[in-house]
Amino acid sequence: MSIQIHQLSRCRACGGSRLRRFLNFPQMPFTDDFIAREKFGTEFRHDIHVFVCEECLTAQTQHDVDVGDYYEDYQYSVGASQTASRFMRLLATNLLAKYFPGGKNLKVLEVGSGDGGQLLAFKEHGCAVLGYEPSSTLTRVAEGQGVPTIQGLFGAESVQRLPAEFKRADVVMLSYTFDHLPQPREFLAAARSILNPETGVLVVEIHDLEKILERQEFCLFEHEHSIYLTAATAAALAAREDLTVIDFDLVPEADRRANSLIFVATPQNSALAKRFPKAKPATPASFNELSFYQEQGDKIQRGIQNLDAFVDQVTADGQSLAGYGAGGRGVMTLAAMRSAPKLRYLVDKKPKRENLLVPKSGVPLVGLAALKESPVNKILVFSFGYMKEIQADLAAFGYKPNQFHSLLDVLAGNFAPHRAK
Ligand SMILES: [Zn+2]
Repeated sequence: MSIQIHQLSRCRACGGSRLRRFLNFPQMPFTDDFIAREKFGTEFRHDIHVFVCEECLTAQTQHDVDVGDYYEDYQYSVGASQTASRFMRLLATNLLAKYFPGGKNLKVLEVGSGDGGQLLAFKEHGCAVLGYEPSSTLTRVAEGQGVPTIQGLFGAESVQRLPAEFKRADVVMLSYTFDHLPQPREFLAAARSILNPETGVLVVEIHDLEKILERQEFCLFEHEHSIYLTAATAAALAAREDLTVIDFDLVPEADRRANSLIFVATPQNSALAKRFPKAKPATPASFNELSFYQEQGDKIQRGIQNLDAFVDQVTADGQSLAGYGAGGRGVMTLAAMRSAPKLRYLVDKKPKRENLLVPKSGVPLVGLAALKESPVNKILVFSFGYMKEIQADLAAFGYKPNQFHSLLDVLAGNFAPHRAK
């Protein structure tokens, strides 16, 4: 993998040059770059610095990682889970009912369309759909499901590659793709140029910086992300390209993924902009203070110290410890910890392959059976959202609820490692 880094010196949102760093994670890997034992140490590592723009308050990185064909081979997809497909259906149903009642021959373009799951939900309503997806594997899966998909990274020139009937779209949608874009302004301008000027909507789902900070989910600060928006900075960014945000409540919070923020925007002079009032971001006023970001950075550093203290305490006591959940959360959390090599292994229900190590921390990646064959005293659960399910699964191996610790509790310093029997 040949990787180029480009350093920026301007705000991605407003072009301003006064950027203040509030987070610093030294030498971080990619979230998915598990590595063979004999190659360990050669995997990509680079500092992740996160800044806030003093002018427009948009949080962002200032390095672009040109990942070459990294996404081309990217195979991960959430498409299979039931919660995910229910969410996708709900999003399509709500969007069409609210903004296109009785709409006919609607055209929906999704950028970063993955396996086509979201577009399929629109297709079920009779919409014409088109996906744009960098991964060739996912493109094939989508095509197999009957979702026409163009393979490639969407850039300003991609508008030219669209078939004639999609040069005017009713819906342009992105789910967890917008925060990967190195040039969000350029994308918004391109999206606006193809949206129906009267009734077109742009639907964007991103990680909500408010929720990331509230839950200290620093694992979401990764090389793949370029901007970290709140409702307020999202609305301001859209407005810079003449798009008005008219909705932050398309899907009720209870039905969304944990840190999801969804906004719906329309061209500022469109018929929809006249019919629906501008949506008011509920971002707390503290986000307007530069000192707030420094406090958050300090709080996250304390969270990492809590994790290290937990691992030190457990292992100093002679107990063994494993991690559970090899998603980005597990990988990035371990990468930020000094004590990660003290974990015996990182368990995943479906490990990528045998004999891989977690990038940077070098913890062995293993399947579920390891917890039976080589049992541990304590399990640090990174995929804490599935705690109940994990505890139920592992009860079969004799694990008791008090052997599990949720990442969130440990980050917050709420732990008292009891000796397990
Ligand atoms: Zn700015």
